[in-house]
Amino acid sequence: MVGVWLRACALVMVGLVSASALAIDKQHTAIVVGGGLAGLTAAYELQAKGWQVTLLEAKPSLGGRSGLATSEWIGNSKAQPVLNQYLDHFKLKSVPAPEFVRTPGYLIDGEYFTPATLAAKQPATAEAMKRYNAALDDLARSIDNPESPAASSTLFALDQINVSNWLDRLNLPATARQLVNQEIRSRYDEPSRLSLLYFAQQSRVYRNVDDRDRRAARLPGGSAVLAQEFVKQLKSIKTNSPVSAIIQDKDGVTVKAGAVGYQAEYVVLAVPLRALGNIQMTPALDAQHMGAIKGTNYGWRDQIMLKFKTPVWDSKARMSGEIYSNTGLGMLWIEPALKGGANVVINLSGDNARIMQTFGDKQLSDQVLIRLHAFYPQARGAYLGYEIRRYSTDPSTGGAYLAFGPGQISKYWRLWEKPLQRVAFAGEHTDTLYPGTLEGALRTGQRAASQVQDLAAGKSFEPVKVVPPAAPSAPKAASGGFFSNLFGGSSDKAPAKVEPAPAPAPAPVVAPVAPVVAPVVVEPVKPEPVKAEPAKKAPAKGHPAKKPAAKEPAKKAPAKPAPAKKAPVKKAPVTPSAVPAADVKS
Ligand SMILES: Cc1cc2nc3c(=O)[nH]c(=O)nc-3n(C[C@H](O)[C@H](O)[C@H](O)COP(=O)(O)OP(=O)(O)OC[C@H]3O[C@@H](n4cnc5c(N)ncnc54)[C@H](O)[C@@H]3O)c2cc1C
Repeated sequence: MVGVWLRACALVMVGLVSASALAIDKQHTAIVVGGGLAGLTAAYELQAKGWQVTLLEAKPSLGGRSGLATSEWIGNSKAQPVLNQYLDHFKLKSVPAPEFVRTPGYLIDGEYFTPATLAAKQPATAEAMKRYNAALDDLARSIDNPESPAASSTLFALDQINVSNWLDRLNLPATARQLVNQEIRSRYDEPSRLSLLYFAQQSRVYRNVDDRDRRAARLPGGSAVLAQEFVKQLKSIKTNSPVSAIIQDKDGVTVKAGAVGYQAEYVVLAVPLRALGNIQMTPALDAQHMGAIKGTNYGWRDQIMLKFKTPVWDSKARMSGEIYSNTGLGMLWIEPALKGGANVVINLSGDNARIMQTFGDKQLSDQVLIRLHAFYPQARGAYLGYEIRRYSTDPSTGGAYLAFGPGQISKYWRLWEKPLQRVAFAGEHTDTLYPGTLEGALRTGQRAASQVQDLAAGKSFEPVKVVPPAAPSAPKAASGGFFSNLFGGSSDKAPAKVEPAPAPAPAPVVAPVAPVVAPVVVEPVKPEPVKAEPAKKAPAKGHPAKKPAAKEPAKKAPAKPAPAKKAPVKKAPVTPSAVPAADVKS
C-alpha cells in the first residue's frame, strides 16, 4: 500500500516537473547585443512581453553614444514622439527651453547674431541664408515619401551628387556659405561627403517641424538618465562582454562573448556598423551587407567641453542652444556646470573633426581655447580644464552617426530593416526617418523587438532588395524649376548633366582632407602657445582631463544586477574551458 502511494506521488511529481518544464520552455528567449538606447529599448520591450532576455554590452557602462551634454536639448512630441513617450512612461521630467535657445544663432567672427539681428546688421548674409533655406525647402518638397526617397529616376540621380555640388550652384557669399557648411556638417557630415538625396530626404522629414519644436526642452542629466531607467528594469545585463561571434543554426543562436557562449532563440543586434564588422557571423553576411558595413558613411563629430570658473562670454553674447560659428569652432552650446562655473561644449564636425585626429587631446583643447580666447579675453584666466569625446574614431561606434554618402542610398536603403534568419537589427543607422538621433535609436529598438516576436510567431521576412529605378526619365513637372536649376537644363530633360561625385572615403580618414569650398578654419598648430598651467589644473573634480569616464550616470548600471544563475538564458560554454566569469559581472 505504501509502495503504491509512493509511486502515485512520484508520478504526480514527474507530472508537475514536466508541466513546469513545459512552461519554462514556452518562454521565448533573446539575446540583445549592444547596450545603447536601441538595444536597451529592444530588451525592455521584449522583456515586457514576457521574453527572457540577456543584454550583452562590450563596455563597462551602458547607454552607448550620448554627447558630453549632461542636460541635452530635446525636441517636443512633434519632433521626437517616441522619445517623449518613453519620458512620460518613466515619468522623467524635461524642463521647457527658454524661448531664446529655440532657434539657431550665429557667431560670426566672434560676434553673436540671432536671425533678426543678422538681418539688421548683415543683410547680404541674411538674404543669402534666406535663399539657401528656400532652395532647401524646394529640395525637401521634391521628396513625396521620405520612406522611399529614390522613388523616381530623377530622385535616384540626386543620390549620385554630393551636397557641396548643389551648394556651389547657389553661389552663396563666403560668410553665408561658411555658416551653411557649418550647420550641415554639425547635423550630418561634411557637405562634400553627403548624398544630396539623403540631405533632401532628411530635410523632408523635418520639413514641417519647426526649429522651435526640435529644441523645445532640456532633459536634466541628458539621455543617460533615460538609459538608466531602462537599465533599472532589465533583469539580465552583462557588461564587459564584447560579442565576437554569432552562430545561427536551425534550433537557435549562439552568441560568443569572451570565453562565454550564450544561447537563445533570437538575437537583436544593436551595434553600429563598424562594430558589426568586427563580429563574425555564421552563416556569413552576403556581399551587399558586407559592402554596407564597410562603405556606409558615418558623420564625424567630436565634442570638447571647456570648463571655466565663470561664463566668460556673458559680456558679448548669450551662447546657448545651437550656435554656428564661421571660425572653425563648430557648433557650441552652454552646458550647466554641476558645481558652479560654466562649461561650453564645442562640436568639431565633418572635415574639421577629421583633421583634428592628428592632434592629441591637450593640443586639441589648446587650439579650441586659443580661438575662444580671441573673442573672449577672459577665457584663459577663467579656464579650468577640458573633457573630450572622440566618437569618430571610437571602434565601438565607428563614427558619430549614419550620414549616407553619394550613391549609398541607391545601394543600401533599408538594408538593415529586415531580419536575417534569427537576427534582427537595431540602432540609429537602421532607421529610415530619424537616423543619427535618439528618436531613431528608440524606434529601431521597438521595431526589432516586434520583428523578433513576429519571427517567433512563424512570420518570415523577405530579404531586402535594393533595385534602382529602370532608366532616367523626365523630372517631375511639379518640381520643375528646382530640377532645371539643379541639373542646368530645362525641366523636361533627363538629368543628363548629373556628374556622379566621387564616393567619400568609407573608413575614418586620418589625413587632412580639404573641404570643397569652405576653408578648414581650424588650422594646424599656430605659434601662439596656450599657457600650460590652466590645462594642467585641468579637470574639475570627478572629471579626469584626458580620459573622461564614459556615461557617468549609467556607470553604476545595472541597478539590479541579475543573479548569476538566472542568466545567460541558456548558457552553453563554447569551449570546454569556458569560465563564465562575465556571466556574474554586470
Ligand atoms: C556627439 C554626438 C551628439 C549627438 N547629439 C544628439 C542630439 O542632440 N540629439 C539626438 O537625438 N541624438 C544625438 N546624437 C545621436 C544619438 O546619440 C545616437 O543616435 C544614439 O545614441 C545611438 O544609439 P544606438 O543604440 O543606436 O547606438 P549606440 O549608442 O552606439 O549603442 C551601441 C552599443 O553597442 C556596444 N557595442 C559595440 N560593439 C559591441 C560588441 N561587439 N558587443 C557588445 N556590445 C557592443 C557599444 O559599446 C554601445 O554601447 C548624438 C550623437 C553624437 C555622437
